[in-house]
Amino acid sequence: MKAVIVTIGDEILLGQILDTNSRFIARELAKLGAETVQMSSVADEKQAIWQALDSAFSVADAVFVTGGLGPTKDDLTKTVLAQYFGTELVFHPQAYAWLEEMFAAYPQRMNAYNQSQAMLPKSCTPLRNLKGTASGMWFEKDGKVLVSLPGVPFEAEYLFAAEVLPKLKEKFHHLLLQYRMVTVYNIPEAELAMKLEEYEKVLPEGISLAYLPSESYVRLRLTAKGRAVKELSGCWNTLLDCLRELDFKELHMENSEQKIASLFSRYQTTIACAESCTGGNIARLITQVAGASNYFLGGVVAYANEVKKNVLGVREEDLNKYGAVSEAVALQMAQGVRHITGAKWAVATTGVAGPQGGTPEKPVGTVWIAVAGPQGSKAEKFLFSHTRERNIAKSSLKALQLLLEEIEKNHPTN
Ligand code: ATP
Ligand code: MG
Repeated sequence: MKAVIVTIGDEILLGQILDTNSRFIARELAKLGAETVQMSSVADEKQAIWQALDSAFSVADAVFVTGGLGPTKDDLTKTVLAQYFGTELVFHPQAYAWLEEMFAAYPQRMNAYNQSQAMLPKSCTPLRNLKGTASGMWFEKDGKVLVSLPGVPFEAEYLFAAEVLPKLKEKFHHLLLQYRMVTVYNIPEAELAMKLEEYEKVLPEGISLAYLPSESYVRLRLTAKGRAVKELSGCWNTLLDCLRELDFKELHMENSEQKIASLFSRYQTTIACAESCTGGNIARLITQVAGASNYFLGGVVAYANEVKKNVLGVREEDLNKYGAVSEAVALQMAQGVRHITGAKWAVATTGVAGPQGGTPEKPVGTVWIAVAGPQGSKAEKFLFSHTRERNIAKSSLKALQLLLEEIEKNHPTN
């Protein structure tokens, strides 16, 4: 199934909000096995919406629209959709009943604006919105589908999951594609591609391998379209065998640092971090995982030497003697944050993120990472990249990996 996403709203075009609806819908469609071929954002204007719809229907089986469903004058989507499908806005008793039910639970009364939300294009099937007053809409024409959802992200997300997904699965079951992903660490994309050249050559028609390089890893996506879907499983197993033969120690079936961050939940333990060059990124990654409060106690962003010294207890003479980017300082930072938080495990980073600050002995990209735990502490030195963003991303990932490794060693039965 080919899909196009159109988000409607002046706010997006003015840069006042970020279009997260497209990302959400695209992600959900990808999980389903549908292929999003185009995304666009347009103004709350009849002509702009119309053109976007024409363009969308020229390539898509299903078009997803968000925004402009509210009861106010600037919300044009319903009117334009009615005209686009050659119909008119009519009173939908079902949508009205849903509104009444919703308002019965609130102290405020329904006003004329709210009531107007039961006026929908004649040809649509309304979709019940339990998170707001604007119903979603499902249109079908010439075998194609258009879905219109409210702009407010949690409303759009709710409707998509509860109402749209089941209908899509039913309507387009024959047009879906499927994929699987694996993440490989510590190898450049080009080298990996060379090693997998033979594997790729013999892939059957309808199955393709994509390389998705990131700051610190390469994700491989194996996709099967249409009839080839039934061959995906076999090809996938062969791919994993190839990767194992290539001896990748670090093979992750699921992606991203967040995945690693989520692994801490396996262990009944507590962690903390002291961050210099990563500036809080490690804490951010850890706390992006729901439930992190069960094991993450906190972190210190110790950028200045004073903070390393006064908060974490790093010795001044070591700072002077070895410099802030050194084994001694990394170790003391990890020990310090472990001590002040009472965590069982702690990780610390100190490095030269760049672009300035490099020296011949400590070039940009030099990072010391230390882990402190119940049995003592250890530190390792890395040389990452020339760019600041990469250094921060790679240091954070490495720090999480090292911390996890040390914890795993201590929990051999897990
Ligand atoms: P409402 O009933 O609230 O007016 P609506 O369907 O008319 O809903 P809009 O008026 O287009 O939707 O947008 C409502 C709010 O939802 C916007 O102010 C914005 O904060 C958010 N929003 C709209 N579109 C998007 C989008 N594509 N991505 C993220 N947020 C969005
Ligand atoms: Mg609105």
